[in-house]
Amino acid sequence: MKLKRIIGVNLALAIIAATCVLFLCREVDFFKRLELFSLDLSFRIKGAHEHNPNIVIIEITDTDVAEIGQWPWDRSWHAALAKALSDMGAKAIYFDMLFSEPSTEREDRILEDAVKIAQKVYLPFAYQLPSTDLNKAYFPLKRFEPYVKGTGAINIHPDMDGIMRRIPLVFSSDGVIEPHIVLKIAMDYLGLEIKDVKPSYILFAGPGGEMIVPTDEKHQMLINWPGKWKYTFKHHSFMDILTSYKDMLDKVKPEVNVDDVKDSICIIGATAIGLCDIKNVPLEPAYPGLGVMASALDNLIDKNFFRIPPKWVDIFMLYLLALIPALFMFGERPFRDMVLVISIVTGYLFADVFFLKARIRLELFTPLFGLTTSSLTIGTYDFIRIAIERKRFLNMSIIDGLTGLYNISYFKMNIETEIMLARADRHKKFSIIMCDIDHFKNFNDTYGHQTGDIVLKSIAGALKNSVRSLDVVARYGGEEMIILLRGATLAEALLIAEKVRKNVETCIISDDVNQHKVTISLGVSNFKPGDTVDSIIKRADQGLYMAKESGRNRVSKLETEV
Ligand code: GH3
Ligand code: MG
Ligand code: MG
Repeated sequence: MKLKRIIGVNLALAIIAATCVLFLCREVDFFKRLELFSLDLSFRIKGAHEHNPNIVIIEITDTDVAEIGQWPWDRSWHAALAKALSDMGAKAIYFDMLFSEPSTEREDRILEDAVKIAQKVYLPFAYQLPSTDLNKAYFPLKRFEPYVKGTGAINIHPDMDGIMRRIPLVFSSDGVIEPHIVLKIAMDYLGLEIKDVKPSYILFAGPGGEMIVPTDEKHQMLINWPGKWKYTFKHHSFMDILTSYKDMLDKVKPEVNVDDVKDSICIIGATAIGLCDIKNVPLEPAYPGLGVMASALDNLIDKNFFRIPPKWVDIFMLYLLALIPALFMFGERPFRDMVLVISIVTGYLFADVFFLKARIRLELFTPLFGLTTSSLTIGTYDFIRIAIERKRFLNMSIIDGLTGLYNISYFKMNIETEIMLARADRHKKFSIIMCDIDHFKNFNDTYGHQTGDIVLKSIAGALKNSVRSLDVVARYGGEEMIILLRGATLAEALLIAEKVRKNVETCIISDDVNQHKVTISLGVSNFKPGDTVDSIIKRADQGLYMAKESGRNRVSKLETEV
């Protein structure tokens, strides 16, 4: 097959494979999950990045619970922490908790006063999703609202496979855009305000300049994980801060370096067992919800978010990778093809991680699935095509072009096998019949060679129809044909030869003008111990000669049955 045609078919197969993969990866949950899994894999390969040093996590640890007592604590403890952090110079103090537990008026007032004095406390509220109705949202600390620096929704939800990868930056309630608490803190920190919310990005502007944060159509930002919980951000315990604050007041060297807190954003939340809200994130299966907030905040204030290319880029990559094998896979060197496909897979994997490091997220599983599906489809097609071509070549080497009968070399190979089998088993028999058309030279001279060829083809057909499919009919040469009758004794072969003779005699052969009849003479021989291919053919030929000599259109044999 011509190379151009093969490439054409390959390209068509690659396009079909890529289109199927595109459909599967966009519509079928199982494949969607594999794409998400590949995103996590890229994150793991990419590894950690430098986190913002001004984010400090203040954990309510098991030790704190042991020291202060069972949760919920009196709100005066939180008031004390807010005061301590404020006095230590924190820029923003965010309590990642809803204060939903029952409390007393006295305790609430103490916290209210602390919030009022600090002027830098952020408190969240929670929507009862999917509703983003502010009236139905959970505002346990409504009374503190006038004094907080800012508030915002706390909601985050995992992807379909239960893994947390994105954070919704804004919520639209009754046409009003409400920021996520993390975005609110970041906007205040950067001196920015929301200017425009589009399906693929959010535009911010203000004294701090301009910023565009890419999002998906649900206004979610893909979190660029700075690293594992243990190794990212400064961590202090609730009590450490309080003790250090006391030391600071007492002019004793505090355990926590005050500079750690100065000008930083302090995120306070629980990591104690039973209080902690554990999330499954791409870098580790158990990650405190507090860390998700901190990571998103880190991305926003360091402008370290992913640029998500338009959808057509991913579709283009899928088709590009699927089409590459169409240009080099022709089935002749499968090992080389396999090595090339593996090299492309590895190359793309590295490219994906490289892009991820450059904060550009390209799909990974979908284009690689497209590449492998296309390679397998093309490989299978090549395998079948080559098998068919080989079969055609094999046929060409064993079939006579004019009559469609086997050629003499193939016939002799069969006789050799029969002789071997007959030598191994003395009960095994076979016979051969040699045929020659009578006065064919005259026929050719009278009607021309073309009509002679038609006759040859018809006689070949008549011969084939007169024997079983397991027998072998071949063109010996010229207008002579030969038949191998497997398992036939001489007597049986003579009967079959007579049947063949009659079939030819009664066969009417038509060309465009005339109808013709020809006869054949036949010589029969059977296998005898010590026979070779030539000797058994020779005896059949001698039988044929006898048939010709004794008047033609008859069957003759040299030997007697043994
Ligand atoms: P006989 O009865 O003794 O066999 O007489 P014959 O004329 O058939 O003699 P012979 O078998 O020697 O004839 C061979 C002739 O077969 C010569 C040639 O014209 C013809 N022939 C051989 N091969 C072909 C072929 O491929 N096509 C055609 N049309 N004729 C062929
Ligand atoms: Mg002849
Ligand atoms: Mg002849």
